[in-house]
Amino acid sequence: MPALPTVQAAIIAIPRRRAKPLTSPLSENYYRATAGQVAPRPALRGPIDAQVCIIGGGFAGLNTALGLVERGVRDVVLIEAQQLAFGASGRNGGFVFGGYSRGEGALLADLGRERARALYQRTQDAVELIRARIARHAIDCDATDAGVLWANWFRDPTLLRQRQRLLSEQFGTEWTFVPRAELRQSVRSLRYADALFERNALHFHPLKYALALAALAEQGGVRLYEATPATALARDGAGWRVRTAQGEVRAAQVVLACGGYLARLRRQVDAAVLPIATYVMVTEPLGARMDEVLRTRAAIYDTRFAFDYYRPLPDSRLLWGGRISVLDRSPAAVQRLLLGDLLKVFPQLAGVRVDYAWSGLMSYARHEMPQIGQVEPGLWLAQAFGGHGVAPTTAAGEVLAAAIAEGDPAWREYADYGLVSTLKPIGFLGAQLTYWWLQARDAWQAWREGRAGAD
Ligand SMILES: Cc1cc2nc3c(=O)[nH]c(=O)nc-3n(C[C@H](O)[C@H](O)[C@H](O)COP(=O)(O)OP(=O)(O)OC[C@H]3O[C@@H](n4cnc5c(N)ncnc54)[C@H](O)[C@@H]3O)c2cc1C
Repeated sequence: MPALPTVQAAIIAIPRRRAKPLTSPLSENYYRATAGQVAPRPALRGPIDAQVCIIGGGFAGLNTALGLVERGVRDVVLIEAQQLAFGASGRNGGFVFGGYSRGEGALLADLGRERARALYQRTQDAVELIRARIARHAIDCDATDAGVLWANWFRDPTLLRQRQRLLSEQFGTEWTFVPRAELRQSVRSLRYADALFERNALHFHPLKYALALAALAEQGGVRLYEATPATALARDGAGWRVRTAQGEVRAAQVVLACGGYLARLRRQVDAAVLPIATYVMVTEPLGARMDEVLRTRAAIYDTRFAFDYYRPLPDSRLLWGGRISVLDRSPAAVQRLLLGDLLKVFPQLAGVRVDYAWSGLMSYARHEMPQIGQVEPGLWLAQAFGGHGVAPTTAAGEVLAAAIAEGDPAWREYADYGLVSTLKPIGFLGAQLTYWWLQARDAWQAWREGRAGAD
């Protein structure tokens, strides 16, 4: 048997703990539990007028609202069916990085170098804008500006090398290659080979950040309403009439930003996205045990199609996400699935307690790009950000705010990625079958590389 490299041997020597039963009840959404006191906004009652009405209080809606305020448009109303950031924006992994759900290679093939690079750059600028807003407004959102590691689940480094070269040569973006021995110093798992490190990335508490955006927009004059689902949308002269459960907004311009939670206001808009669930859980505080697992503050995801994504939280908990499905699952089911995934990567955490588990809905277009732009005169759209939405929703907010406030035509850069029907309900079956197929392909590759059982 060949000798193990020293770091690998050291990891294997970490004592395994015996599994212990869960002792405390499972709660949902760690972010809600730790966001502090949030003043509820009123529900809209009766008719009001506004220049712009934004429907949906996730990152897409909130970034548009703040972008409008920053451009001097203050007569804005934002209505949210539930609570601000109730959807994906208040439930996500908290990774803030450039790019879109559609990979850079596909973007390049679709648009050519210049246009692909310009669209990619919008998300890099968005990462910078998020940093700048956090700094300028002293936003307390547990921001950890320590980069993101893309860890290779497979032994073959070709994928890493190819992506590193593509990003450098075509997109002017440098990701650093991290050899296996170095990776194992910081991520103490035998599961991975090498990795790429994306320095220009951070992670944060997305709900605290979203609520801070909402407060800033509100200070700028935006009127925010919660528990106010838009129930109908109709033309009203040159503008729009948005009916809500107990009121109505008359507005010159309307922005639809409802993500995977489908507003049911325009059939063509809803038909263009598939709501897809993904899951997150948070462990108990690990204290000194964190050191047995991670010695980096970077966030991590892996190279499989159905990848794990995780990051250390400031209170020494581990946030762990993964899986995609057409099924929304109960917290107990999410915990069962994700704990199994976590223990495949970090068996040394056997027995760890899970305190929170939840699921959220992403919105996916068939082309895996966001749909940003004008559906018809005065009706704007920002949806379909998939699992890669924190920076792109920020970019969308900038593009739409500039279009509405200044007539900026930049939104047309997204015109190739329009409203293509997802063919529901057959689309759900197609998505689930594709997921299983790609998951099986990854398991097959791992098996071929001699790691039977890796999936
Ligand atoms: C579990 C999970 C993990 C993720 N991890 C990451 C990550 O780490 N990094 C990353 O970049 N991206 C991640 N994503 C993706 C990212 O969170 C989303 O792309 C982004 O938050 C989408 O924002 P949104 O505003 O379009 O949608 P949402 O945040 O879903 O907001 C839509 C809002 O519209 C409201 N709404 C719907 N219908 C109506 C109506 N009729 N009237 C009024 N309001 C309505 C909903 O209640 C909801 O609050 C993740 C997503 C999930 C679900």
